[in-house]
Amino acid sequence: MSRVVLVTGGNRGIGRACVEAFLKNGDRVAFTYRSNPPSDLEGENVLALQADVNDPQSVENAFAKVEEQFGNVEVLVANAGINKDTLLMRMSEDEWDDVLDTNLKAAWRVAKRASRNMTKARSGRMVFMSSVVGYFGSPGQTNYASSKAGLIGLARSITRELGPRGITANVVAPGPVATDMLTALGDQGAARLTDLVPIGRAASPEEVAAAVTFLASPEASYISGVVLPVDGGMAMGH
Ligand code: NDP
Repeated sequence: MSRVVLVTGGNRGIGRACVEAFLKNGDRVAFTYRSNPPSDLEGENVLALQADVNDPQSVENAFAKVEEQFGNVEVLVANAGINKDTLLMRMSEDEWDDVLDTNLKAAWRVAKRASRNMTKARSGRMVFMSSVVGYFGSPGQTNYASSKAGLIGLARSITRELGPRGITANVVAPGPVATDMLTALGDQGAARLTDLVPIGRAASPEEVAAAVTFLASPEASYISGVVLPVDGGMAMGH
């Protein structure tokens, strides 16, 4: 089985682990990066695409290139994301807009574009990278948490709208993951989060990628609209 996969923000962190996991499965994997393509992700089954998910033309160009080189996208992983954390009273309109645009609107944008050919094929898989904070909440992350909660509504609406066309849409909700995003919080900030995790550590990007590849696998054919926590037990019950 070799499918065409597109991962946004696949040059580093969780996205990169997803790219590697799909490649290991034998899929053909396209991924987006913004500025620097990783030099060690090359080969006939991998395609690096320069794209800013906030730019509709850039997204359109990326899809056109995947279709030209590999064929229609059969598995979409909407992973690209940012955070701009600050307390509610200090948060600027720009900080709100940038995070909502990148994390939620751009996910809607790529899902919309992918759905065009998935509906024709009457088959497709979409996985959205949310976060525990989408339902757990987090001080200083009103913008980020809102964007991640929005992905749940997006995936569940796609499930209801496109389920009859053979398309599944699911959400992965990681707790802290050992990537640049966590490092940027500093040792104390990262420790504050991992202290809330019963397993007592951050996830590796590969542990999150394993959930993504499962939701995109044939074994997950009857799973749609779920939120799959990969959080070491951090938000259980929420
Ligand atoms: P990183 O900061 O390591 O990577 C973020 C990725 O998103 C990069 O590839 C980045 O590209 C890309 N990206 C950001 N903005 C854009 C844009 N406008 N256009 C295209 N690509 C963009 O983060 P992680 O790997 O940790 O995060 C991946 C996803 O997982 C995010 O959605 C994040 O919110 C989510 N997540 C992360 C957690 C964590 O603890 N790390 C926990 C829960 C969820 P570039 O390299 O060009 O900047």
